[in-house]
Amino acid sequence: MIKGIKGVKDILPEETPQWRFIEDAARRWALCYGYQEIRIPIFELTALFARSIGAGTDIVEKEMYTFPDRDGTSLSLRPEGTAGTVRAFIEHNRAADPLPQKYFYIGPMFRHERPQAGRLRQFHQFGVEFFGTSDPRADIEVIALLWRLLSDLALSNLTLEINSLGSSGDRAAYKPILLAFLRHQESRLCANCRRRMDRNPLRVLDCKVLDCRAATELAPKLTDHLSPDARAHFDQVLTGLVAIGIPYRLNPRLVRGLDYYCLTSFEITSTHLGAQNAVGAGGRYDGLVKTLGGPSVPAVGFAVGLERVSLMLPEASLSSLNECLYYVAAFGEEGIKLGFVLLDELRGVGISAQCDYRATTLKGHLRQADRSKCRYAILLGDDEAARGSVILRNLESKAQEELPLVGLTSILKTRSFSS
Ligand code: ATP
Ligand code: MG
Repeated sequence: MIKGIKGVKDILPEETPQWRFIEDAARRWALCYGYQEIRIPIFELTALFARSIGAGTDIVEKEMYTFPDRDGTSLSLRPEGTAGTVRAFIEHNRAADPLPQKYFYIGPMFRHERPQAGRLRQFHQFGVEFFGTSDPRADIEVIALLWRLLSDLALSNLTLEINSLGSSGDRAAYKPILLAFLRHQESRLCANCRRRMDRNPLRVLDCKVLDCRAATELAPKLTDHLSPDARAHFDQVLTGLVAIGIPYRLNPRLVRGLDYYCLTSFEITSTHLGAQNAVGAGGRYDGLVKTLGGPSVPAVGFAVGLERVSLMLPEASLSSLNECLYYVAAFGEEGIKLGFVLLDELRGVGISAQCDYRATTLKGHLRQADRSKCRYAILLGDDEAARGSVILRNLESKAQEELPLVGLTSILKTRSFSS
């Protein structure tokens, strides 16, 4: 027997209603905030990810699914959605159209990580990208969209952590200061951090290893070394968050694991998720469009992990998600004929209906009707067929009423709109 791949999950029929619920909410809120859906390819040239996410990042160094195409070109499954969205933005010359432009995407991403709860090798993200303005209100808007979506889904115990990564000049000036501090702590750092420290000392602040965290506890803060412009931008973002009632916590060591971020950087975490506590994250990436060969267009965005959202979704949101309205219990020679036509008529006008074709008796049908979680059964045997009627049975209260077969679809259609 051939099994599925480790860390790659099937989303089974009983789980898809919950996924649709989450994805529908994401689409609804994105559209409400004026974002248009983009569908980018699942795989791209490896060079795209190496150049955008950064060759020295965990994602590119050890998490990508990379393989040669038949002509030897190196391709990779997308580990995130921003690189592809920016590539498409540049390739279709979108910067020549009126700015700003706001895109969102939903879909699977791929990273070779150690699978555990909330960490998979194929996982799903909803993300947005806001191109064309460096106004801090754009930063606030994307945070507000993510916050509103998660609140609408009734996720609890959420914290917005926020930091500023400054301009590239700020980071260049801060790096030697941080590096000098790290040198004193070198013996306490993990091998990975020691190896990468010189190339990208900021990444050490993002290391999840506890000893590294302790060693960098008192590290100098980038936010104490911001240029006046970066400082003003950050202050405006924070003031705006207060104005719209979104609480935040400053986290001076919040450094995202992707190289393209600048200025605002944020993460939404939850105490409900255990070790994998980040639900979503994002920030500003003003240099990325240019880095990938486009014009200089500032941008800000986020991505949220839908598996982690689904782990946190309260039970109450899940009841009545998978409901079919009518079970057609057709039995007897004439009943079966008329019942099959009725079933098709109901579906034809958009009323959900089903029938177990294997059942031949009323008892058999009622058992299946109960299992089906339909709200009503329509009983149609030879007796009803002879009278030109059906019995409508409420499967919960067991109340029954007789209705004419002719015109039944219209009657039920009116009812399904008024209920
Ligand atoms: P983490 O610190 O958990 O590895 P990350 O910084 O790598 O997260 P991003 O690249 O910013 O995450 O992706 C945004 C969101 O996507 C994360 O907050 C998380 O919810 C989700 N995510 C990232 N990697 C995975 C994964 N392997 N499995 C499931 N969800 C993931
Ligand atoms: Mg990661």
